[in-house]
Amino acid sequence: MMKELCPSFANPKTWRNNIQEKIAKEDWKKLRLKILKRDDYTCQYCGFRAEKWQIAHHIDGNPNNNEDTNLETICPMCNLIHHSGQGCVVQGIVDLYTESNYSQNEIVQITRKMRAEGKTDQEIINFLGLKEKMPFKMDVSYLRNLYGFVTSRKTLQDWTQKALEYGYNISARK
Ligand SMILES: [Zn+2]
Repeated sequence: MMKELCPSFANPKTWRNNIQEKIAKEDWKKLRLKILKRDDYTCQYCGFRAEKWQIAHHIDGNPNNNEDTNLETICPMCNLIHHSGQGCVVQGIVDLYTESNYSQNEIVQITRKMRAEGKTDQEIINFLGLKEKMPFKMDVSYLRNLYGFVTSRKTLQDWTQKALEYGYNISARK
């Protein structure tokens, strides 16, 4: 069972700091691995499985709530949709649309597959039926009616760029 994905954003306070205060780095590494193993390295939103670059995500948005029940495995693409302030504004690689022929979860699955097949963004957008581009706003109820699309524009954040490319590469091999 996939969880429902929709564009959202993290509390700017935790977003800016992005520091886990109550857990040491080594402990976080262990905990992250435990969560990834529990979920069989599978994104809980799109079903993408990869042993590298998956993220242990805090469900309630609080980076200090490290209970197992508050952590889940999410892939870099779904993470950019979920944290769309990051995706749209900070990294500038996510676009938001009003209309889609598919659910947000399916948009991620189809985008990954078609990009791995070498399709252009415009071909993918046409296939998905994405229409009427909208700006990002820090408003959860506004965002939840929109659909996020991870474009092929390059991000300056090295980690994200590598993580996305890894995902496209392993999808292309399947
Ligand atoms: Zn995913």
